[in-house]
Amino acid sequence: MSAAGAPRLLVLAPLRLEALALGPGGRAGPAALAVERTGMGLAKAAGSARRLSAAATPPAAVVVAGLGGALAPGLVPGDVVVAERLIDAQGHEVARLASAALLVGELQRKGIRARLGTVVSTDHIVTGNERATLSALGADVVDMESTALAKLDWGAPLAVLRAVSDSPGVELFSPAGALGALKGLRSLRRARPALADWAAAAGPRQVLLAEPRSFCAGVLRAIETVERALQRYGPPVYVRRQIVHNAHVVSRLESAGAVFVEELAEVPDGARVVFSAHGVGTSVNEEARRRQMSTIDATCPLVSKVHNEARRFAAAGRQLVLIGHAGHDEVEGTLGTVPGTRLVSTPDDIAHLELDETKPTAFVTQTTLATDEVTTVIGALEERFVDLARPAASDICYASQNRQEAVREMAPDCDVVIVVGSLNSSNSNRLVEVARRSGARAHLVDSKTDLQLSWLAGARRIGVTAGASAPPELVQEVVDCLAGLGSISIEERSTGRENVSFPLPSEVR
Ligand code: SF4
Repeated sequence: MSAAGAPRLLVLAPLRLEALALGPGGRAGPAALAVERTGMGLAKAAGSARRLSAAATPPAAVVVAGLGGALAPGLVPGDVVVAERLIDAQGHEVARLASAALLVGELQRKGIRARLGTVVSTDHIVTGNERATLSALGADVVDMESTALAKLDWGAPLAVLRAVSDSPGVELFSPAGALGALKGLRSLRRARPALADWAAAAGPRQVLLAEPRSFCAGVLRAIETVERALQRYGPPVYVRRQIVHNAHVVSRLESAGAVFVEELAEVPDGARVVFSAHGVGTSVNEEARRRQMSTIDATCPLVSKVHNEARRFAAAGRQLVLIGHAGHDEVEGTLGTVPGTRLVSTPDDIAHLELDETKPTAFVTQTTLATDEVTTVIGALEERFVDLARPAASDICYASQNRQEAVREMAPDCDVVIVVGSLNSSNSNRLVEVARRSGARAHLVDSKTDLQLSWLAGARRIGVTAGASAPPELVQEVVDCLAGLGSISIEERSTGRENVSFPLPSEVR
């Protein structure tokens, strides 16, 4: 590697065959990529690392790649493990590689069987029972170079990737092992575009963190309700629908003993059941009563407020319109509270409403809509209906409004905005829309593994926020991932602090 012309990506491969598999081809020309052989074994790799890392101009990114032996069950020749952790043969941690998840996601999107894992480096080829010994240290794959190469400061982000050549029962020096090595080399070759993408996304950047973001008071209350119900009554505690719309929250509570169901038909008579934060319609409450279930209502008080308004408008003889998105749990609950309520989503829907425009009418809205989106729908309602009553205050909850306002302020300064939240989270989707309407590219990710390198290439200012149902630790993981791609500076962009809490349902207080 010449000091004057440092490549964008420096790939370190132990042996000639591995270096050949990883060599330039297709998109990666010699100016973008240099592949250096380090030699086999910890000592040779350490010597090569010293020589190569002394280059005056560091590359933008460094990847250690080659074949490795599988230790963990389920790995087969050709599978790729990207190291999030490197350990030595005694189990001591040598390095953590924060952006490994980004590379795994990219490899998977390119059709390669890849996963995150721990790589252990030894000073000899591992066979037979020794695989189990190393596996017991928590390692997924063994190699003979990575820890030596990762110990040096390359002045650039580092990734370590091993393609499985041999596994328990398929030893390296056997006909099946030779075939495994071939599969591994093929995977290394197929991995090159993802490595190029990883290098293209590497570099220093600024991260803007929107505040407020993540959990709201209604979500915290709902989660705590299930946790306390499990503590007080013991599992199983049934929960109708996702308690909040976040896959990580649901799976954590599931492992603690909560049983999530779609409908009460799946719950035994007399069992204990929690209603989710999104609320339920009258018929669900009636069925629970009829079947003598013990119910705990975790409906957010701000959703209950909308239900009460809807009942009041109906009792006053008004025909009722709900502004919301079809199929959402909250919308189903509100429609089920006042049967006959009409659902609209866009201004165009108003013209098609089969209602008498001369009769007293009222509207309520879903709590998690975008404020600017609702204004146009309300305008269309006002144009058509002569006597239109509206809620005393906006039904869009404080948490949705605050998170949207923070994104609206931050997005114009961002190359791209990352919103952490699950696909079925209404308020998270609205944050993406608000960011886009504010002129930024924006993407929704359930977790760090959904981040795509192509979004980050050339993006020097990245905004990060999270929907009201997304746990703060997922935001931290995204930020850590970005830090693994190069140095970051973090700036919080606050439009105000929240100080809202709701009392728990009496059954779990
Ligand atoms: S987003 Fe709003 S309505 Fe939904 S749980 Fe949070 S505070 Fe309640």
